[in-house]
Amino acid sequence: MNVVELAQKLIQFDTLTPKGSDCLNFIQSYLEPLGFEVQRLPFGSVDNLFARKGTNNSHLMFVGHVDVVPTGDNWGHPPFSGVVEDSILYGRGAVDMKGAIAAFLAALPNIKSNNSISILLTTDEEGPAKDGIAKIIPWLQANNHVPAFALVGEPTSVHTVADTIKNGRRGSISFDIIVHGKQGHVAYPHLAQNAANPLVMLLQNLTSQPLDEGTVDFDPSNLEIVKLSVPNDVYNVIPGVSYASINIRFNPMHSFKSLEEYINLEALKVKAQYGLCDFSITALPSAEPFITHSDEWVAKVSKAVEAENGSAPKCSTSGGTSDARFIHKICPVLELGLLNKTAHHVNEHVLLNDLIVLEKIYQQIFQE
Ligand SMILES: [Zn+2]
Repeated sequence: MNVVELAQKLIQFDTLTPKGSDCLNFIQSYLEPLGFEVQRLPFGSVDNLFARKGTNNSHLMFVGHVDVVPTGDNWGHPPFSGVVEDSILYGRGAVDMKGAIAAFLAALPNIKSNNSISILLTTDEEGPAKDGIAKIIPWLQANNHVPAFALVGEPTSVHTVADTIKNGRRGSISFDIIVHGKQGHVAYPHLAQNAANPLVMLLQNLTSQPLDEGTVDFDPSNLEIVKLSVPNDVYNVIPGVSYASINIRFNPMHSFKSLEEYINLEALKVKAQYGLCDFSITALPSAEPFITHSDEWVAKVSKAVEAENGSAPKCSTSGGTSDARFIHKICPVLELGLLNKTAHHVNEHVLLNDLIVLEKIYQQIFQE
């Protein structure tokens, strides 16, 4: 099967997180005749596949996810049909990231190298990501499968395929904030403490000062209010409780611990002004920031891109989190894939030519 047929086939499996076992079965049946030893590593409702060829220490791994986000409505073609029209392939997962998996699978039979090559796929990257790659990392370590280098096929490209690779990512942490005041009559405010006011002041303070100015490798950190509510059915009652949630995308100038301390300190300052209120703050850490400082692998991947595109890719640490946040703990990791313009959108699609270009670049990287 060529790269387009493979991509169509993968798209035709409905793999809304954490579904995807059928899709992994198909990939297993493709890999085994190519000499790969395939292992399935299910955890809970999540299925994972690890396949490796050769035992050489120069072991390179491709990492991906077959699961996809919900389709949404009003698609021009059914989202799991894999329709090709005017040299464009449509379907949920076309760029994020079944198209990239197809490009890697199509490249495999043509890779001439002594490297040991492996592929690690999960059905839970878009979801909680608890039973996917996070669980496989210790298994790789225990079974002598830690690679020398890993490439994640997330859609990193901006204008043309492979114009951008990701060599790190910002971290992510959320906080649930509850303010307990004292409910009372609106006409007698001295007998109550409005729970909304301290919350508004805290959020105002948090959003009016930048967390930092960014670093050489990273954008400035940003803090966003993502939920806000003051439950109240009437107009004559001062609310006694209020709620907010914030999410922070942060660079290595911060850590889970430093941000938790910062938020708690800011809450204490507000409490000092209001007295009669209590903050209860829950930190929900998701991903620490990381950067891959491996010049060797950045150079190798750049060379492969340049051979195909005529220009080297740009390194970036922008964007959301990916499974690279788990893999960087055991080996250098870079991310390179299709255009991210339509990822998670209705009518997600990929140019057929982009699939072909990416296949050639993957082939080049893995036979280095
Ligand atoms: Zn993805």
